[in-house]
Amino acid sequence: MIEKLKQLESISRLLEPSKTDRDIFIKKTVQYSENFLDSIANIPTYNFPKDDINKIFDLPISSTPINYDEVLSFLKNNVDTPGINPASGGHLGYIPGGGIFHSALGDYLAAVTNRYAGVYFASPGAVKMENYLLNWMAEIIGYPKTFGGNLTSGGSISNLMGIVTAREAFNLKPKHIEKSVVYLTSQAHHSIEKALRIAGLKDCIKHFVPMDSNYKMNVDELEKSIKNDKASKLKPWLIVSSAGTTDVGAVDPLSDIGGVASRNGLWHHIDGAYGAFFVLSETGKEILNGMEKSDSMIMDPHKSLFLPYGSGAVLIKDKEVLYKAHHYQAGYMQDALEKNEELSPADLSPELSKHFRGLRLWLPLKLLGVDPFKAALEEKIQLARYAYEKLKDFENIELGVYPNLSLVTFRFIPPNFNPNEFNKKMIEEIHKDGRVFLSSTLLNGKFTLRIAVVSFRTHLNEIDLALEILKEKYKQLIKQF
Ligand SMILES: *Cc1c(COP(=O)(O)O)cnc(C)c1O
Repeated sequence: MIEKLKQLESISRLLEPSKTDRDIFIKKTVQYSENFLDSIANIPTYNFPKDDINKIFDLPISSTPINYDEVLSFLKNNVDTPGINPASGGHLGYIPGGGIFHSALGDYLAAVTNRYAGVYFASPGAVKMENYLLNWMAEIIGYPKTFGGNLTSGGSISNLMGIVTAREAFNLKPKHIEKSVVYLTSQAHHSIEKALRIAGLKDCIKHFVPMDSNYKMNVDELEKSIKNDKASKLKPWLIVSSAGTTDVGAVDPLSDIGGVASRNGLWHHIDGAYGAFFVLSETGKEILNGMEKSDSMIMDPHKSLFLPYGSGAVLIKDKEVLYKAHHYQAGYMQDALEKNEELSPADLSPELSKHFRGLRLWLPLKLLGVDPFKAALEEKIQLARYAYEKLKDFENIELGVYPNLSLVTFRFIPPNFNPNEFNKKMIEEIHKDGRVFLSSTLLNGKFTLRIAVVSFRTHLNEIDLALEILKEKYKQLIKQF
């Protein structure tokens, strides 16, 4: 028995690297990340994946370890090269963020110490830090001290938690679902409908509220629809608005929608995954006016706070409802609530064991202060406006709405060409080129190009480069077509 244990111990102790090994691992890791960061301005933003993308299967998990150099070279060639490079300032597609370096330090430290941030008792410091960060967010959007929140892995999970909380707040039972009405626009992010489905609410009624010409919810139509539904004995329940839509960056009239919600007794959830943090900038603050009137909202630090992927947040104005919807041990936690003790993430989210996400957010905010974030957000808004003005001078272009926050939409309409085909070709050429990455969307059947200025590494140079590439590809295509 002892013999066997000793034998097993000698092998299992390999899980703890020696000091010498740690030194080597750290040095090589730093070297790799330094090489990456040193070259970030020159490597492509998009690499067409080659067909040998399945190489991971050629390195099966087995009893044979391989050395770190081999692993890093595999990573470089097969993981960190093909596809989009989200760390590049040339990433102007979808909603980028960049992945700020200081967060990597936070992740490293959080993983080494492995603090358990699920329950206050287990790690009071880690839980307090996360709660403090949520307090900070609540303050910037204007929520009262009675709010509750959670640092999540991203916007989709945050939306799901917001919707589950709204469901519990209204005590929606299966028999109510088919008569309960959700109000949203066709520009709402698809994660809302996904969340409704996951939350068992796919059979509720979705009323798509008409929008104005800027893709913002029409509040009169919203109120009319609620009145009609009440008259038809339906149960108006939830309004989902957007603080920055993914397609065009439209901010719904949040304050007016808040008014409609409270007059009619509905829950108002704001999806601010992309846009809410722009409230830190002077221009954004005006545009986002009214967020504080909502009942719940979400915001993604991995978008407009530039963190690496895996950082979202959900805030609920009344923490009791969030707790009611997510806690798991009523007796014990009720005391905690009464005594006004620190709430634990495990009681406010579906997670129990969780990543200590707070550190990757707290560290950059502390090491840099909040001013560079504010400046960067204002810069992104101004860069989008700059791009919009520059695009005006392009030939045969149709510009979308004036940028609300930091997204610009447009399409080319050269005479005698099918515009959808032409713009599709444009995006393909831009992807083949790879210096910058742009994405497209379909708006009212029109194939539309987007410039999303959200990465902290996107500055004037990157926008000028994108504009130059657009001009160049347009000229080439118009000849070929
Ligand atoms: C990105 C986005 C989401 C989804 O967030 P994830 O973090 O990608 O899960 C939801 N709503 C809007 C408006 C978004 O831009």
